Amino acid sequence: MEIRHLVFLQSMNNILLYICSSLGLYAVIARRLPTWQISIRRSQSHGVCARKFKLAEHTLEEISTSPFAPLLAMTRKGLVFLLPLLLYTLPSYSQSDSTITIYHNATIYSVDSLFTKYDAMAIVEYPLNEKKNKILATGQIEKLKTKYPNAILNNVKGKYIYPGFIDAHCHFFGLGVSMQIVDLVGTKTYEEVLERCKKYYNTNKGNYLMGRGWDQNDWPKKEYPTNEQLNLLFPDIPVVLKRIDGHAALVNKKALAIAGIKKGTKIKGGEIILKDGKPTGVLIDNAVDLVMKVIPKMSDIQIKLAVEQAEKKCISVGLTSAVDAGLEMDTIYKIAKFLRDINVYAMPMFTTDFIESHDANIDHPIDYDKLHLDGVKVYIDGALGSRGALLLKPYSDNPKSYGLELKSYKELQKIFLWCAEYGYPLNAHCIGDSATRIYFKLIEELKPILKKNIYKWRIEHAQVVDTNDLHKFKKYGIIPSVQPTHATSDMYWAEERLGKQRVKTAYAYKDLLKAAGVIALGTDFPVEDVNPLYTFTSAVWRMDSNEFPKNGFQIENALTKEEALRGMTIWAAYSVNAERYTGSLEPNKQADFIIFDTDLMNATFKQCRNAKVIGTYIRGKRVYSR
Ligand SMILES: [Zn+2]
Repeated sequence: MEIRHLVFLQSMNNILLYICSSLGLYAVIARRLPTWQISIRRSQSHGVCARKFKLAEHTLEEISTSPFAPLLAMTRKGLVFLLPLLLYTLPSYSQSDSTITIYHNATIYSVDSLFTKYDAMAIVEYPLNEKKNKILATGQIEKLKTKYPNAILNNVKGKYIYPGFIDAHCHFFGLGVSMQIVDLVGTKTYEEVLERCKKYYNTNKGNYLMGRGWDQNDWPKKEYPTNEQLNLLFPDIPVVLKRIDGHAALVNKKALAIAGIKKGTKIKGGEIILKDGKPTGVLIDNAVDLVMKVIPKMSDIQIKLAVEQAEKKCISVGLTSAVDAGLEMDTIYKIAKFLRDINVYAMPMFTTDFIESHDANIDHPIDYDKLHLDGVKVYIDGALGSRGALLLKPYSDNPKSYGLELKSYKELQKIFLWCAEYGYPLNAHCIGDSATRIYFKLIEELKPILKKNIYKWRIEHAQVVDTNDLHKFKKYGIIPSVQPTHATSDMYWAEERLGKQRVKTAYAYKDLLKAAGVIALGTDFPVEDVNPLYTFTSAVWRMDSNEFPKNGFQIENALTKEEALRGMTIWAAYSVNAERYTGSLEPNKQADFIIFDTDLMNATFKQCRNAKVIGTYIRGKRVYSR
């Protein structure tokens, strides 16, 4: 169909809208007004969370470009009231402004409740309004051809189709940022870190230097570095080099000076590592924030570039949705502006800025087209690698330390109550078993007040969980959100931190799945590689890229292939309350899917890791192809 035909149809659409609104046929209007549909859908999709936000103002702006704007504005109350009832009772209007494509000669893993396989799938696309693109049907090619005789046939030549992967816990924006700074991932020595910094600075210059990705566990001397050499290389600009987990940073003398960190500086929930009574430049958890506060903010152009690069990377590995686990509100607003295709579920950090934005948002909601607000992110403790995880018993390799409490119990109480009152899921970072215990204790204690308002709250990482707490996931409906590649990265030193007995309660994904009935899988990128196939192989085989260890690390906690795939698709969607729209290939869902060259369900470890994405589709639109 040519554009002029589409334009003609759109004008006919507008005229019909006018007639319908005059006659009070709200449901017909609703079906022809995709922006309204999306608004309603959004409030369903985000349940209590979105309840607080009025229908988006931009929706009204869009409508007001139509000549019938005043009329439509008048009918808006009626629309909202009647929509849910009438939306599904009237037949669809003509699909002449749409195209139907049948993907066939494929093995389609629908990941529906029965894990059904099909060989064909029909998708409808609306060139003028891609928000309406959806899956029409799945089934056998002959039946679909009879049902949609005018459909375009797309032969995928025996390849494999899966629902688009969803990373249930990642740092989407952080990935984009890490692509703009010195990449220190995989450095084998501290000297290599310095070398990469020097090289980066020589080409990029700037009035500060940021880097991320070093891990002292990969170096010959598995100790934290000190900043002497860094000070010699960069005496005049502040340098901040974050550890791979983001919970520690090596900073130079200049950065310490600007942040006002001295010998005796104390910081709650953080640590300033000293040697001979002097700061070495290594900062842990809240101490890192002291320096981050004085580093200049990114410009809009840098942010745009970061978002674009992160999106490009994600879709190239088959991700159609990413759950960003912790962002400031002003960053969320900006990301919303620059996103193109990928669905991003953003967890705002619980800060005063967020509370202020929340109040302001009631009247001025942000564009939720591609960006959705998820629950609020809170850190209860730090990471295991930097001994910041809060443990019930002391660290096995440091009997004096229990880890770090990043927020006081009183502060947490307030946050829990606020989230329950305003209907935001509370997604808490809990690595140590004591952090998880605190999370459940707060829920138990506040239960009489919270009542039914705990809906799809999550524990992020759930890395070490005391067996006595496992049953509480189901009891309170808490979703464990875990990252299988953490298990295969940390297995080299986790036992040192936790000891022989306690390590058995760590990275226990099968136990968590049994306990909660659901498990959401992610990567925590850029802490780990973005590739979701590594999540899949780590979850199923519990081996790293070197196929170590041969029989899998604590293999009793491996997931089956089906469970892993569910964790990366439908359960991940469920964890952000989006399971009605994405996460599986079923009629009426968004057509978010990927075509792979490999049958993951019947492939070996190696074949899975080397599987290639042939195409990534978001809302039916091809956004990446090999
Ligand atoms: Zn994270």
